[in-house]
Amino acid sequence: AKQDGRGVFRFYEAEMGAEVRDRRLLEHDLRNAIVRGELSIAYQPQVEVQTGDVVGFEALLRWRHPARGAVSPAIFVPVAEESGLILPLGEWVLRAACREAAGWKALLSVAVNVSAVQLHAPGFPELVGAVLAETGLDPERLEIEITETALIKDVARAVAVLERIRSIGVRIAMDDFGTGYSSLANLRAFPFSKIKVDRSFIQSVDTNPQSAAIVRAVLGLGSGLDVPVVAEGVERPEELAFLRGEICQSAQGYLLARPSPIEMFADITSGHITR
Ligand code: C2E
Ligand code: CA
Ligand code: CA
Ligand code: CA
Repeated sequence: AKQDGRGVFRFYEAEMGAEVRDRRLLEHDLRNAIVRGELSIAYQPQVEVQTGDVVGFEALLRWRHPARGAVSPAIFVPVAEESGLILPLGEWVLRAACREAAGWKALLSVAVNVSAVQLHAPGFPELVGAVLAETGLDPERLEIEITETALIKDVARAVAVLERIRSIGVRIAMDDFGTGYSSLANLRAFPFSKIKVDRSFIQSVDTNPQSAAIVRAVLGLGSGLDVPVVAEGVERPEELAFLRGEICQSAQGYLLARPSPIEMFADITSGHITR
């Protein structure tokens, strides 16, 4: 009902009451978050499974609300997408992450999450190009993470946009792989350079034979397509041990490192150590 236009939205507002009002308040506060300096980025290392070397970082948006404290992106990103605020927010993350990575001595990659709304907004490939030029980051070091739901809206247009971005040299990762409706079809239709296997498959890889078989199949798919696979949300040593036994290129997760302010990883970004 939320997407049915303003009249319908108002109709439901009376019924839903508190929840809708809360979203409105959140949206109002989010509108000011950039100028008030309430946004920051937490960086989570992406680690090569066999060596333990850090090969890059994923940029994860953080919002510290003056009264509510930390608000999860799982809460405010949907609000931002619905209101269109994801456009300035997403641009802020992209620019901040590229600027940050351009300053690292170690030539590691940086992965930025991009929402469907951004992908389909006019001029998105141009924006990516402009931010790279402005920050001086080598396009090969930028990776854009897209979930499958971002792709169902207008497939032909999404393909064209992703191909333009790839033609600049930027890599494209399919996020949350396996959770969408047509993962395999998407893999064939879009120019992906990386597959990120969703945490839901990883977390039971050592206890559930189905999960293990699925993860093995995705790893096989990756090697057949010559597309590296990243395991998301690795929390336990058993999960990492499983991945080590297979051909999994890299992993991310609390076991390896929690998303943190980039200063926590100064030894890595300065190139002094790799893990
Ligand atoms: P995602 O892109 O799938 O990011 C992975 C999420 O899993 C992050 O949650 C990360 O903190 C969390 N995570 C990492 N390792 C582990 C682990 O071992 N165990 C568990 N349980 N979780 C782990 P976070 O930071 O709360 O972000 C949630 C989602 O919000 C992201 O999911 C992404 O879809 C979205 N998001 C975050 N930042 C941005 C952004 O800048 N732009 C857009 N469009 N979306 C963003
Ligand atoms: Ca992601
Ligand atoms: Ca993910
Ligand atoms: Ca996700």
